[in-house]
Order: sequence, then structure tokens, then C-alpha cells
Amino acid sequence: MKKEYGPSQGAEMMRGLVEAAEEMRLSELALTNQDAALLESMGVEAPAKVPGDFRCARCGVQFRDGVWFLILRDGTTVCKTDCTPRLAR
Ligand SMILES: [Zn+2]
Repeated sequence: MKKEYGPSQGAEMMRGLVEAAEEMRLSELALTNQDAALLESMGVEAPAKVPGDFRCARCGVQFRDGVWFLILRDGTTVCKTDCTPRLAR
């Protein structure tokens, strides 16, 4: 049986593609400092390191442009994702 695509189905398909691209862009923004270091070690382009040799006090990875990190009350810096100490007691 022959499958037929009408104009509206084509538009639907296009919208799906746009949404998929948007999702990829968003997940790129959610890159962690560890991800960036891993990408770079594989020779893949990663966000630039922040100036001033800021690195995580726990895992030692260098922070990247556009990737979140936290400055704790005692002045140490850690990744926002995996290395954040639990503040609740
Ligand atoms: Zn870390």
C-alpha cells in the first residue's frame, strides 16, 4: 500500500525536526564541567576554560565558559552538579 503525505503531515514532520534540534541545543547548555573536559580529551570542541584557573575543589576539573559552578562560603569553588556538598543536615 502506498503511503501518502499531505502538506499538513509534512509540516508536522518539520516541526518535529525543529523540536529535536531545539532539544539538542538545550542539552548542550546543560553540559557539565566534567563533560567539557571529556569532550576535549576526545578532541571534540568544548567550551573555553574560564580565565584564572578556576577549578573544582572536589574533582579538580577546570570550569568552562557558560557552565555553572558554585562558590562556597569558605571560598572554595565546586561544580554545580556532582560536587555540590549536601547542605542539609
Ligand atoms: Zn567537580
